[in-house]
Amino acid sequence: MMNPEIFYSLSYGLYLVTARYAEKKNGYVANTVFQVTAEPAQVAISCNKDNLTASMIAGSGYFGVSVLAQDASKTLIGRFGYRSGKEIDKFEETAFIETPENIPVVTEDCVAWFTCKVVQTVDTGSHLLFIGEILTGDVIDAHQQPLTYDYYRKNRHGRSPKNAPTYIKPEKENEVVEIQKEQASKTVAGQKWICTVCDHIYDPAEGDPEAGVAPGTPFESLPDNWVCPVCGAEKADFEPYQE
Ligand code: FE
Repeated sequence: MMNPEIFYSLSYGLYLVTARYAEKKNGYVANTVFQVTAEPAQVAISCNKDNLTASMIAGSGYFGVSVLAQDASKTLIGRFGYRSGKEIDKFEETAFIETPENIPVVTEDCVAWFTCKVVQTVDTGSHLLFIGEILTGDVIDAHQQPLTYDYYRKNRHGRSPKNAPTYIKPEKENEVVEIQKEQASKTVAGQKWICTVCDHIYDPAEGDPEAGVAPGTPFESLPDNWVCPVCGAEKADFEPYQE
């Protein structure tokens, strides 16, 4: 037998893996970036084949990695983690630099960045394992802590009363109540709300049938434990949507 809980005991960081192919720039949030060797300096990344970035790395033979800072904004993580580069230009509202190899690397809310030339690709079924030799790189902010997957998971779910009430500090609780009051004061009939993490739009006319929310349910009537059906963000992460 295998206890699936073992996977929670593995530690990961969170990174933005980026690439350019022809004129297209794209990137995604990855937790699998690890150093393989020191001499030469090589890292490996595991990239889902369904990811647009995977085909761009395979096509160009290069990729960039930015190490997310612990306080990286949800908007940035949402843009790179929950949106598709097929639909939006993820770099349009993101601070980045173009390296000498012409790879776009994100500098916003990141601790460090580096670029790699792919030296080996391993097909693992659902994913491509790219092994890259590091070409260039620099520290952006040595005072920032890198974001770990564990920290992100605990802090995201930690604000959920349903799953882990013990994680909610009193000041956080008050903060959430204040945000909910503010949201209620802005609500007008038929008001749509947008998720600030992934840009999903809640339309009261449609409701959220999969979560048992009937069409015609205004945003403020959603249960407190309702979460964004796309990215899992909480009600407090939504704001009124102006069309
Ligand atoms: Fe969302």
